[in-house]
Amino acid sequence: MYKVSQFNVPFKKGDNYFLYNSHTGAFAKLSSEYRESIRGINERRFDEIPKKHIEDLKSGGFVVDESKDELGYYEYLSNVSRYGNNSFGLTIATTLQCNFRCPYCYEEHVDEYLEGEKEVNLLKFIEKNLENKRHLSITWYGGEPLLKKDLIDRVSRYAIEICEKRNMTFRASMVSNGYLLNRNTAMHLVHKNNIKSVQITLDGGPETHNLTRILRSGQGTFDVILRNIKEIHDIIQVSIRVNVTKENVQDVYKLFPILMRENLNGKVRVYFAPVGAYNEVCQSVSESCLITREFSKWETDLINYADEIGFHMGDLYPKSRKGNVCQAVNNNAYVVDAYGNLFKCWHEVGNSKLRVGSLSEGITSPERLIKWMNWKLPKKCTTCNIMPLCKGRCPELSLEMEDFECHQLKFNIKDRLFRYYNRHPKEKQVVSAENLIENA
Ligand code: SF4
Ligand code: SF4
Repeated sequence: MYKVSQFNVPFKKGDNYFLYNSHTGAFAKLSSEYRESIRGINERRFDEIPKKHIEDLKSGGFVVDESKDELGYYEYLSNVSRYGNNSFGLTIATTLQCNFRCPYCYEEHVDEYLEGEKEVNLLKFIEKNLENKRHLSITWYGGEPLLKKDLIDRVSRYAIEICEKRNMTFRASMVSNGYLLNRNTAMHLVHKNNIKSVQITLDGGPETHNLTRILRSGQGTFDVILRNIKEIHDIIQVSIRVNVTKENVQDVYKLFPILMRENLNGKVRVYFAPVGAYNEVCQSVSESCLITREFSKWETDLINYADEIGFHMGDLYPKSRKGNVCQAVNNNAYVVDAYGNLFKCWHEVGNSKLRVGSLSEGITSPERLIKWMNWKLPKKCTTCNIMPLCKGRCPELSLEMEDFECHQLKFNIKDRLFRYYNRHPKEKQVVSAENLIENA
């Protein structure tokens, strides 16, 4: 006996019917015969459905055995990822100081650096937490992490050596404003520090970027960042995060031709984030979450525009991250700030009242830690058909409010999938279930 998957996303565009599954990532254009078979499964007319149809639909995860607890299976994967003991992840804010003075930044830019005794304690903390692990990952963060390059060097050297000795893998990435990231620095980060990817933020095209991403002097930074991206994209993977607001959305359109003119088309990954996101990597939002629906429209329009003019945005196919939820709710991940305090959420960096502990004392606030570790998938997400992609969005949002707004994918996933359909030759229109489309 069978049932249709709770993670199916069915939709119609023109005369065509499509089916996507957010857990398996399979995507198919459905013929009327296959649609009829799905209807038959819903109506429990199993005997009338061709065996081949059942096999095909099962191979894409669109149809599952009736006894399968899909949500339970997802939660199991999520628990393995959250409470498993394979990896240790650190986000390290080398300093809270920054060479920029972006007006919306929530961090207090004090001259605090992770150094001296705090650095010694950091190395001890890493060693202690690597017991029985197989992977170590570090994300360098700030302030601007490149204001404390010597620390990155020393900690990276230590991490590389200890991982080699223990036969562990080590990977590192960086979130930087990009202003100091010239070719020499990038070479050093890649070859000495094992940093393979960097995320750089732009606030639109030059016009709006230069109003908000400014130096202490108030001077704009677009040209220097663009020059640096041109210098480094062939040695380090560059993701450009573009903050989008009502005020700058028109200027964002101008960014694509500029990147094309600079010969960066297809060489960098570009993605959009709603304004007010707490930090440079996670995509949570505070009060601005109320505009997610509007943001999802901007995002769709911007992607369409990029397609029209031939700019390659990178792989936009919606794929599940398996069980990986935000690191704030992962048992083996911490954020370390320049005071040596430990946090779970990036948003809390620098706010010692919210720390769960410190490098020198270990966990000092079990209550705060428990709040994160006992986070559960919000109720509304347990019945959402794109939950394996969104995973309940930002844990901090749902811990703070019940009626938080959904991820933008909830509003534009069908447009994203239809774009994929239009851009790929027929034989590639099915992902992870190759045999479906030909029979559809
Ligand atoms: S809980 Fe939310 S704000 Fe905090 S790190 Fe995770 S996604 Fe970001
Ligand atoms: S936040 Fe919304 S889109 Fe995300 S899993 Fe929950 S219900 Fe679905």
